Amino acid sequence: VYYKAKFAHLSKMLSDEDRERCLDTEPDFSGLVSIYQGDITKLGIDAIVNAANKSLLGGGGVDGAIHRAAGDKLLKECKTLDGCKTGQAKITSGYDLPAKYVIHTVGPIGEKPDALQSCYQKSLELMVQNNLRSIAFPCISTGVYGYSSENACPVALRTVREFLEKHPDKVDRIIFCLFMEKDIDLYEKEMQVFFPIP
Ligand code: ADP
Repeated sequence: VYYKAKFAHLSKMLSDEDRERCLDTEPDFSGLVSIYQGDITKLGIDAIVNAANKSLLGGGGVDGAIHRAAGDKLLKECKTLDGCKTGQAKITSGYDLPAKYVIHTVGPIGEKPDALQSCYQKSLELMVQNNLRSIAFPCISTGVYGYSSENACPVALRTVREFLEKHPDKVDRIIFCLFMEKDIDLYEKEMQVFFPIP
């Protein structure tokens, strides 16, 4: 009903009364999204997302960890990709990782919400285009790229929420993989806002 209502809101198909009633209904995505604390390279899931740099040839932080755990074949495939622009995403195999695929996205340097939003959006689109159903995200751009977690977290959660509203049947699981202790309280609080348990 909620989805019909959202559509109807644009198309004016429902009566005003129906529209009001439907928009009050919160969809329950709380079973699809979760927080995991730890190393993203340990997750056996369809795809993990790499907070890469434009070269896609490896780096520090989560990027370095993913390349180390995936092995040299990952770098070999990345060399064929001709880099990646900020806010875009490219997919490779996961090689020695427990994850089947790696989706490499390039976060903005500094606080650029549109670019950060695009990273999450394009990664989710790549997941669906490749018939994958589960994905884990690190906290893109919040390490050396300097986006504060407080500002990046709502962008991440809102983008995932909007994606689930549009494609509720395409996803089994979305994990926010947190590495820093300080992100746990923040995500737990914001999850209640964006993914309330009805
Ligand atoms: P960026 O360049 O996009 O800022 P970083 O790798 O520096 O990327 O940091 C992004 C986030 O990834 C940070 O929260 C950092 O603590 C986290 N991170 C670092 N290593 C890992 C890992 N092995 N698994 C999950 N997250 C990690």
